[in-house]
Amino acid sequence: MEYISTRGKVGSIGFIDAFMMGLANDGGLLIPKQIPQIPIETLQTWSKLGYTELVYEIFTYFTNDEIPQEDLKQLIADSYSTFRHPEVTPITKLSDELYLLELFHGPTFAFKDVALQFMGQLYSYVAKKKGVRINILGATSGDTGASAIEGVRGKDGIKICILHPHGKVSKVQELQMTTVQDDNVLNLSVDGNFDDCQRIIKELFANLDFKSANDLAAINSINFIRIMAQIVYYFYAYFQVAGNIGADKVNFSVPTGNFGDIFAGYMAKRMGLPIGKLILATNENNILERFIKEGVYMPGDFRMTYSPSMDIQVASNFERYLYYVLGEDPELIAKLMEQFKVEGEISISSEALAAVQSEFAAHGVLGAECLSTISRVKTETNYLLDPHSACGVAAAQQCAEKGEITISLATAHPAKFNEAIELCGIEQQYPEPIQALFNKEQRQTRIAGDKQAIASAIEAFYRG
Ligand SMILES: *Cc1c(COP(=O)(O)O)cnc(C)c1O
Repeated sequence: MEYISTRGKVGSIGFIDAFMMGLANDGGLLIPKQIPQIPIETLQTWSKLGYTELVYEIFTYFTNDEIPQEDLKQLIADSYSTFRHPEVTPITKLSDELYLLELFHGPTFAFKDVALQFMGQLYSYVAKKKGVRINILGATSGDTGASAIEGVRGKDGIKICILHPHGKVSKVQELQMTTVQDDNVLNLSVDGNFDDCQRIIKELFANLDFKSANDLAAINSINFIRIMAQIVYYFYAYFQVAGNIGADKVNFSVPTGNFGDIFAGYMAKRMGLPIGKLILATNENNILERFIKEGVYMPGDFRMTYSPSMDIQVASNFERYLYYVLGEDPELIAKLMEQFKVEGEISISSEALAAVQSEFAAHGVLGAECLSTISRVKTETNYLLDPHSACGVAAAQQCAEKGEITISLATAHPAKFNEAIELCGIEQQYPEPIQALFNKEQRQTRIAGDKQAIASAIEAFYRG
């Protein structure tokens, strides 16, 4: 598989190069040159595989023999042996029509571990093989940071700097990131919101001199390898719920911020998995809901919500989807993204909107509905949802027709977001690794939301 940019000025690079480039050098996003098409007989074989076997089969479509078979198998085994559940991403049944895909059994209790445990291994592998230094730079609304740090802490040849919005992540998220004592980790606590953090790092990545002088590497979902790793659990979940291929289509409901996770679902569908609707769940930061309902992509005012990992207005991965839905025309995408920078909005034609609506449904879940969903599901089934997963469930119930089966993604463990759980009057017991965080010392640097100040702090750390 070769990779190209949505904006057309980076073409046909290999898997490792795409992994290391992160954001495409023309400011666009990297995508596979062709989406692999999985024959039905292959799907049938895959339906009997265990999780890591399936990971291997799917990854080989994307890695293009650049990693020897045995090495890839070892990387996958090492990545998923850190999960607490033997199935890695198990399914739980809530009702005959609604299943939960539990994605939070990794080391930091959120779905980001599924991709970032693998990316941590892969960075380490590449650093050793090529003898290069790798300096990871990322922005987080809370979960990516913790997960990426966990993936590379203490690893030789790798440093990691994570920007998070000061005071706008949950207590447990903050502790997970800032209580790591390894010298290869720097946490910058930025005055501003997640969009500010993401904009600053995208600008630093787009500055190619800065990027190469500092050996920058990306762990955000601008990196296609994140998407690749997340495609797997759509297949796995489908097989667990629907059994063999040939059964009816299944919907997926996905709590969304950066359009990353749901884009992985879109890829799975394009690869041939019989997905019905992709239901996009947002919170009050509902730019993507408005796009799917009205065809206008326009960031609104940033709001703080009970689901902080989805408090995002400018969704990076949206550009990848736009590329596909508007007919794979890189010049058009380059023009639209330039226009977006100036005018702050993108509108699509009514035909394009019809295409969007044939694949996606959307529901913005307001705070009260999020909390009432947590309470109701707890009362009815004794299952405790985290606020992000609750948005997924609420959207599934809003958007799925009677008789349809929906798999809703449970993206985090409730212990990460006790702020919301407490408001429901529910007391929860923390898992031991989370409880232990409260006694650890924190390390972080508070910094103004200013690109120059942040660039200096990053350079000093990477060169130190
Ligand atoms: C990151 C995150 C999301 C949103 O995922 P995207 O890939 O940004 O759409 C949802 N829920 C949780 C718990 C997250 O950490």
